[in-house]
Amino acid sequence: MHPESLMMSYGYNSESFERAVKCPIFQTSTFTFKTAEEGKAFFEIAYGLREKLSNENLGYIYSRIDNPNLKILEKRLSLWDKTEDCAVFESGMAAISTVLLEFLNPGDLLVYSNPVYGGTDHFINTFLPKMGIHTLGVHPDESKEKIIELINASGKADKLALIYLETPANPTNEIVDIETYSSIATHFSSNEKKVLCTVDNTYMGPLWQHPLQFGADLIIYSATKYIGGHSDLIAGAVLGNSDLMIRIKTLRTFLGNMLNPNTAWLLMRSLETLKVRMDQQTKNAQQVAQFLKEHSAIEKVNYLGLLDKNTEAYKIYKKQCTAPGAMISFDIKGSEKEAFKFLNKLKLIKLAVSLGGTESLAEHPITMTHAGVDAEHRKKMGITDTLIRLSIGVENPIDIINDLKQALQD
Ligand SMILES: *Cc1c(COP(=O)(O)O)cnc(C)c1O
Repeated sequence: MHPESLMMSYGYNSESFERAVKCPIFQTSTFTFKTAEEGKAFFEIAYGLREKLSNENLGYIYSRIDNPNLKILEKRLSLWDKTEDCAVFESGMAAISTVLLEFLNPGDLLVYSNPVYGGTDHFINTFLPKMGIHTLGVHPDESKEKIIELINASGKADKLALIYLETPANPTNEIVDIETYSSIATHFSSNEKKVLCTVDNTYMGPLWQHPLQFGADLIIYSATKYIGGHSDLIAGAVLGNSDLMIRIKTLRTFLGNMLNPNTAWLLMRSLETLKVRMDQQTKNAQQVAQFLKEHSAIEKVNYLGLLDKNTEAYKIYKKQCTAPGAMISFDIKGSEKEAFKFLNKLKLIKLAVSLGGTESLAEHPITMTHAGVDAEHRKKMGITDTLIRLSIGVENPIDIINDLKQALQD
């Protein structure tokens, strides 16, 4: 069956819970062992003292290690990207920092595609160097040969451990070819060492892009965005094959940054409507982008659905994505003054950061989400005083367009 058909029941056995249609919230810190022998066996496995036997069916110990709401949510999330396992976290940043801490050691090199989410950028460039980790930012318009050359020139090629990508890039929708970067990871891998390729798929997933199909090893989400989808919670997730996920789940146990049962339950509720929400959001965004493109007060629209068919970006988009998404950015004619005037006049569309929720949001990247990014870098990324970012929601597209129309009027 398709994931959207399984989101209401997968992984939950109502027979065990008074035949309740909906999975209860397991608001408990600890779980009873049937016998002392069972307790001993649980801890042997949890601490890696021995392998789990194939016929061994272990229950729960303690909610920092695992909890039924987390487990069912993880099973359901795995269906969309067809991964073996998933780990859910208290935030997207908790998911990202745990992956980076688990797979990078002092002296290692991390290569990442610019631009990445502001929090990720800060963690990579402020925190990781304190741990003795070297970082190298590359740009989407650099060729595979050029990136290999840059890695070799860094003098740390033999210490390359991880490639970190985010595509399409926030806020300009610049697209990165996952296949190219995973082949670079393979290029620098050896029998002793596999270089991993991870993708922050928050902008497009889990519906419109499946990075494992293009050679990525791990997928990361801020579940605060489309997965949660109602701007009412903070959460994160990492997905991949079991051998890598066991390491992530083990570090999660000791950092204690797992998701709580209440939020896991809310996300299970969100997943039931994930497909209908995201389908409607991308349909709306296509109409909004077309309207903006034709408007005389607008200089330029960045939207995957409007890419010129003769460009390299279009080819990658067609290969990698199943829909153009619901994130649009555009340059309004004029200066910061015109941009602010427009933002202040919006009525239906809310002036706020974040994205992926049921309501449409607008923000000004250069003074808000990207205020901390170095000016030279912002210029290279096309983040100008006149750039506005929109996250399109599930409202009637006529109302969204009418709101934009009145806000663009003199
Ligand atoms: C929001 C966001 C994050 C951070 O997630 P939180 O849930 O806020 O911690 C990471 N990456 C991207 C692309 C995001 O949009």
